[in-house]
Amino acid sequence: MPSGDTTPATGLDPSAFAGQQLAEFMSFVTGQPDPELAIRRGVERAAEVIEAEVACIFRAGVEPVTIGFPANSSPALAARLAGVERGSVQLPGLGDCAVTREPLGEDRREWLVVARMGTADFSLADQDLLRGMARAIGLARDMLARRRLLECLSEIQRRIARRDVIDEIVRLIVDGGTELTGSDMVLLLQAEEDGQGPPRVRASTGLRLDALASLESGGQVARMTDRAQRDSRMVVIEDYQTELTGAPELKAEGIRSLVAVPVRADDSVSAVLLAGTRAAERRYSDSELDALRTFAEHAGMALADAELVADTRFRSLHDALTGLPNRTYLAERLDKVRAGGVSVLFIDLDGFKRINDSLGHGTGDQLLVAAAQRITQCVRAEDTAARLGGDEFAVLIETSDERVGQRVARHILAEFERPFPIAGRDLVVRASVGLAVSQCPDDDPLADSDLAMYEAKSAGGGQLSAFAPTMRKRAQQRLDMETQLPLAAANGELFLEYQPIRDLRTGSVVMAEALIRWAHPERGRLAPSDFLPAVEGTNQITTLRRWVLETACRQVVAWQERAPGLSPRVTVNLSAVELHSFDVVDAVASTLGATGLPAGQLVLELTETALAESLERAADSLTALRSLGVLLAIDDFGTGYCSLQYLKQFPIDYLKVAETFIADLSGPSPDLRMFRAIAGLGASWGIEVVAEGIEQESQLSLLRELGCEYGQGFMLGRPMHADALARSLSARAEIVRT
Ligand code: C2E
Ligand code: MG
Ligand code: MG
Repeated sequence: MPSGDTTPATGLDPSAFAGQQLAEFMSFVTGQPDPELAIRRGVERAAEVIEAEVACIFRAGVEPVTIGFPANSSPALAARLAGVERGSVQLPGLGDCAVTREPLGEDRREWLVVARMGTADFSLADQDLLRGMARAIGLARDMLARRRLLECLSEIQRRIARRDVIDEIVRLIVDGGTELTGSDMVLLLQAEEDGQGPPRVRASTGLRLDALASLESGGQVARMTDRAQRDSRMVVIEDYQTELTGAPELKAEGIRSLVAVPVRADDSVSAVLLAGTRAAERRYSDSELDALRTFAEHAGMALADAELVADTRFRSLHDALTGLPNRTYLAERLDKVRAGGVSVLFIDLDGFKRINDSLGHGTGDQLLVAAAQRITQCVRAEDTAARLGGDEFAVLIETSDERVGQRVARHILAEFERPFPIAGRDLVVRASVGLAVSQCPDDDPLADSDLAMYEAKSAGGGQLSAFAPTMRKRAQQRLDMETQLPLAAANGELFLEYQPIRDLRTGSVVMAEALIRWAHPERGRLAPSDFLPAVEGTNQITTLRRWVLETACRQVVAWQERAPGLSPRVTVNLSAVELHSFDVVDAVASTLGATGLPAGQLVLELTETALAESLERAADSLTALRSLGVLLAIDDFGTGYCSLQYLKQFPIDYLKVAETFIADLSGPSPDLRMFRAIAGLGASWGIEVVAEGIEQESQLSLLRELGCEYGQGFMLGRPMHADALARSLSARAEIVRT
C-alpha cells in the first residue's frame, strides 16, 4: 500500500530514490516516438509509479487523455478532477479518492491529475515526484513536438528549394500548422495581386467548401486580414463568437479562438495565415503561437519564391515590348499540340526597317505594339499569337484545316490595309504572310511558314503565300548559292555583261550598264535575280561588290586603251545593303585608285528603295561618294517609295525612268503627262533622264520628241559581252534605226 515517507526496501534515502525514478521516467517519456505517445505513456507510467487508480492529462478545450476512468463517466469528470487542487473526491465505483494535480508547464494550463483510492493524502514525496513527472511529460511532449515541427519545416524548405508546385507547398504548410498547433482549422489567405477584391483561399483545413466559398466572397475576413496586414502583427482573438466584426462563416463553423498571422513575402504583407479552434476555453499556448509564426514565415518564403519563379518563367516566355508569347513559348506550345494537326502563320511587316530607321525606334516600337494588337484581334483565344523577334510574328492555330489558316491570314492582311495612326502620322505598313499546315509530327511548320512568307515577300509583299514543298528546294538553292558564290568568283564563273546606254539624239553609246551573271556549273546561266537576293544580307555581298566594281572599272580602262579618245562611262548597281555598308565610300575610292579609272567615268545606280530605307545615312553616303567625283543615278525611278521631296536633297546626276513608264508610252493612249512631269523636273534640277526598257520604235520616237536625252533597252542593244560593247563604242555614230 502506498504510504507517506517510508524508505523503500532498497535502502536508498527517499530523495535519491525519487531522483533515480524521475531520471528513468524522463528517459522513458522522451524516448517516445511522438508527442501524443509521450503524453499517453507518460500518464500511464506516472499513475503506475504513484500507484494511482485514476489519472489524466487535462487542458481546457482539449480532449483529455485518461487512465482508469470509470466506464460511462462523462468527459466533464476530467475537468472536475482537475478543478481540485488537492483533496478528496467520491468517484463512481471507487468510492473516496485522494486527488492531486501538477502542471505540465509554466503557463499552468495543462495538468497531470491523479486520484488514488482511500482517504490518505498524497505524501510530500509523492507530490514532489508527481511534480517532476508532470514537468517531464510536458518537456518530452514539447521536445517531440518541436522535433516534429522541425522535420515539417525542413520538408517545406526542401520543397521550396526544389521549387515544387506552390499549391503543394502551401498545402503542407497548412497541414503542418493544423497538426502542430492542434488547430481545428487553418487557412492561408492571399490578397489578389492588384490589391482589389477579397483575399483568395490558397489552402485550408477543417472548413467545409461552402463556408470557404462564402468566406472568399464576404468582407469580414478581408477586414481581419487587413488588420493583420496593416499592423503587420499577429492578432489573437480568444472569443471569436462574441467578436462584433467577426466573419459569420467562421462563427457558424463554431470557431472560438482565432489567430491571424501576417505572411510577409518580399518585405510586404501579401497573405495571412489564420488558425482557429472550436472548443470552449481552448487557448493557443506560446509555443503554438510561435509555431504558427514560423509556418507563416515559411509561407512567405514559399509565396515569394513562387512569384519569382512565375515571374521569371513569364518573362522567359514572353516578349517584353508587346507582351505576346515569344518564340520559346510558341515552340513549346507547338510541340504540345502538333500531333493533333496545326497551322502556322508567319507574319513579317513590309518595310519595317525603313520606318524604324527613318522615324526612330520609338515609333518603330509603337508600330510593333499596334501590329501585335491587330494580329491578336484576328485570332481566337485558343490560338497562340507570338512575336518571334524584330518585326516577325507567328500565329499557331490548332487545326489542320487549311481554310481556317487562309481565313485568319486574310483577316490579318485586311487589318494591315488600314493605316496605323502613330506619332501623329498615318503609317501604311503591310504584312507578308506565309501559311504552313501540318499533320505529320516530323514537319517543321514554323520553318515552312517562314519559307512561304519569304516567297510572299519576294512577290512584292502585302500578300499571303501557302507553303509548297518546292519552296524547300528553292531555299536550299539559296543556301547553296551563299556558300558557292565566293568560289564562283574565284573560279571565273561570274562575269559581267554590258548593256549600252545611248544618246538618243546622236545614237552613240555613251555609257554601259554592268550587269552580273553567273555561269553556274549545274544550274546553267543565272540572272542576278536568281542569286542576288540570296546573298543580300550576308557577307558575300561585300565580296561581290568588290568584284563587280573592280571588273567594271578595269573594263572601261581596257576599252579606252583599245579606242583612245573615247571616255565612256560605266554604271554599276549598288543594292540597299551595299549602299548602307559602312565601307562603301572607301571601297569605291580604293577601286578607283587601283584601276586608274577617272572618277567621272563611274556612275553608281541606286534604287529609290535603297535611299528611302535610311534617308539620313543615304544622304551622308551619297554626299561622300559624290565628293570622290563619281556620278550617281537613281535606278528604276517611279517604282519605289522615294518622294520627289527627298530627291532634291540628294546630289543626283541621272534619273533612270523605270521601264513600266516607258511601256506605257506605246499603249493606245500613252500617258505622256507623267513622263513629261519627270523630264521637266529633271531639267529644272539639272538631272539628266535615261529611259529604260525601250523595246519599240514607237517608244523611241516618242521619247525623242519629248526631248529625253538617253535611252537603254533591248531595241538599243541587249546586255552583251565586253568585246561586243567595245565594237559598239567604236562605231561612234552607229545609226539608230528610226
Ligand atoms: P536594273 O539595274 O534595272 O538593270 C536592268 C535590267 O533590265 C537588266 O536585267 C536588263 O537585262 C533588263 N533590261 C534591259 N533592257 C531591257 C528591255 O528593253 N526590256 C526588258 N524587259 N528588260 C530590259 P538583269 O540583268 O536581269 O538585272 C536585273 C537587276 O539586277 C538589275 O536591274 C539590277 O538591279 C540588278 N543587278 C544586276 N547586276 C548587278 C550587280 O552587279 N550588283 C547589284 N547590286 N545589282 C545588280
Ligand atoms: Mg541598274
Ligand atoms: Mg533599271
